[in-house]
Amino acid sequence: MRKKIVAGNWKMNKDFNEGVSLFSEVINMVNDEIIGNQQVVVCAPFIHLNSLFGLKKGYDKVSVGAQNSHQEESGAYTGEISAVMLKSINVEYVILGHSERRQYFGEDNALLAKKTDIALKHGLKPIFCIGETLSERESGEYFNIVKSQLAEGTFHLSPDEFSKLVIAYEPVWAIGTGVTASSAQAQEIHAFIRKEIAAKYGQSVADETTILYGGSCNPKNADELFSQADIDGGLIGGASLKSRDFVDIAKAFN
Ligand code: PEP
Repeated sequence: MRKKIVAGNWKMNKDFNEGVSLFSEVINMVNDEIIGNQQVVVCAPFIHLNSLFGLKKGYDKVSVGAQNSHQEESGAYTGEISAVMLKSINVEYVILGHSERRQYFGEDNALLAKKTDIALKHGLKPIFCIGETLSERESGEYFNIVKSQLAEGTFHLSPDEFSKLVIAYEPVWAIGTGVTASSAQAQEIHAFIRKEIAAKYGQSVADETTILYGGSCNPKNADELFSQADIDGGLIGGASLKSRDFVDIAKAFN
């Protein structure tokens, strides 16, 4: 049975004290209210990561993730953070290829393939994001776009390496816009992604791959999205900044 995951992406939000409050609330609510075996992941800005482990109280239904890591292990890359550094404080997950990194920082599939290699080499679990823009959706090109992001970013991996990834399908037109993909639209492309994985790595790897949906997911639409056969949870932006909303989304699996 593949893992169900609800991951929050705080993006560039929350100062230190705000982050402590938000994470503490999430921990307490998850502890009291999550009865299924879904995993809750909090991907916070770098400044928070080390302190979150102290607040976790050893509670393992919540994992800590970063939002980016560099493609080299160390060196003269001012302002960057490496997978080695993240691993040294026990960070478990790292978001790679978020559309905001692709759009504002010029990250392309070739660079993301390198980031994925280094993250895996150091024991991080990448949450690898793919998804089309509005014009790519409207032109009908979205299957090809998603396929090439997936193949160019990850299909150089061995089956064993690939099986450590979480894939997040995030249509760019749905991120932060309040416009959610319908459950049918999301299921259609999730099934397509799983089929592509099966064609490359075989059905059993595909069946075990967790594929998250991201894009204006909220407590009202999570139930329907997460009940689709190929949607194994969500990558949550805006709603992860409110503990009640975030944990209510995670409870869609209860
Ligand atoms: C995201 O940035 O990954 C995301 C899904 O954002 P939002 O939930 O705000 O659309």
